Amino acid sequence: MVTSASVVNGLDAFEELESEVRSYVRAWPAVWSRAHGASLWDERGREYLDFFSGAGGLNYGHNPDEMIAALTRYMQSQGIIHSLDMATTAKRDFLLRFDELILKPRAMSYKVMFPGPTGTNAVEAALKLARKVTGRRDIVSFTNAFHGMTLGALALSGNVVKRESAGIPLEHQLTAPYDGELGDGVDTVSVLDAILAEPDASVAAVIVETVQGEGGLHAAGAEWLQRLSECCTRHDVLLIVDDIQAGCGRTGTFFSFEPAGVQPDLICLSKSISGSGLPMSLTLIRPDLDIWSPGEHNGTFRGNNAAFVTATEALNWWRDDSLSIEVQRKSEVIRQELESIAAEHETLRAAIRGRGFLQGLHTPVEGMASKICGRAFERGLLMETSGGAASDVVKLMPPLTIDDEDLHRGLAILRASVEASAP
Ligand SMILES: *Cc1c(COP(=O)(O)O)cnc(C)c1O
Repeated sequence: MVTSASVVNGLDAFEELESEVRSYVRAWPAVWSRAHGASLWDERGREYLDFFSGAGGLNYGHNPDEMIAALTRYMQSQGIIHSLDMATTAKRDFLLRFDELILKPRAMSYKVMFPGPTGTNAVEAALKLARKVTGRRDIVSFTNAFHGMTLGALALSGNVVKRESAGIPLEHQLTAPYDGELGDGVDTVSVLDAILAEPDASVAAVIVETVQGEGGLHAAGAEWLQRLSECCTRHDVLLIVDDIQAGCGRTGTFFSFEPAGVQPDLICLSKSISGSGLPMSLTLIRPDLDIWSPGEHNGTFRGNNAAFVTATEALNWWRDDSLSIEVQRKSEVIRQELESIAAEHETLRAAIRGRGFLQGLHTPVEGMASKICGRAFERGLLMETSGGAASDVVKLMPPLTIDDEDLHRGLAILRASVEASAP
């Protein structure tokens, strides 16, 4: 419930007291007070449909009933909340269920590392371990990549503006062209192959997103990923898949690389691994690479047990393939709708990008993607842009659990927003 005072104050407190670094609140000037499933309500009681899903942190929607029930039970029983990396019942339950429902059925053998609870932490841990294992310094990342904002991860970024925010040179990184970057018919793995074959190369690992969530929704083909994996093996370089945004079911399978059949050496998960939006992050390590010394990469909040409780509950969605099948069916609905919108508005010169529940509409018309998202917000739909500095992709990221009615309602708002924006 909202007091009249907070309604009167509106956004003033944020403008006066919060740093200029804030960003989403500028695009969506509402004060949120409640959320459930695919809906959010602002403090005035207006409902918005969510095609943003916490940038991928809310794949199962807001406040999923079964996760909130498990969390409430845990809190009311004085369950441990903070524990660094001590053993707790909550962590054991998570480890056993992750092994049972995710690793074993996929014949995957990995050690689970709990770094600090943000995505960039999972990336930093993977980079550090790759350098330690190989004794080499450099990491190859791809054009338009995004892997987080701390210095090591930032060095992998394809976004010039974000890189400059570091204020120091970002080193020991090389850029290779992503799948499709050099046009149709050019296999960009051959460029990577040449980089790795340089006599003075000192590359520890290649890090890749299978769909570039922030960098414009470019999606790598399954065969390209296979060739990438073979290229890394050939040069004895580790392959890291950053599955922080594309993983946890976002593209229709638990890991986004499953259709390609590759086995990365290191895997980064975060965003929706807790299932509830609570901070949590994992780095999965091929067992023979797990040469950390105890405490070599530590952190105070590696024992976010509240997140382990909801994560354990979230994994129940993966007991069978019903969620996966539903996501794949609805992904096709999204694709057809985007294709129909693109065909109806030729002036947008739009193309569909991405796959699964991580698709969007690219338009080279300047400012158009932001305009469409702005119009959608006015009509009660949250949707953000992707594409780095150009921000030229309208990105659709509904919760995986969205029902058909809400999906169609959101797509209709998108269509109306495009109609109101297109030249
Ligand atoms: C969000 C994201 C990160 C960084 O996660 P944070 O929790 O914001 O640090 C890293 N890689 C990818 C692909 C992401 O989408």
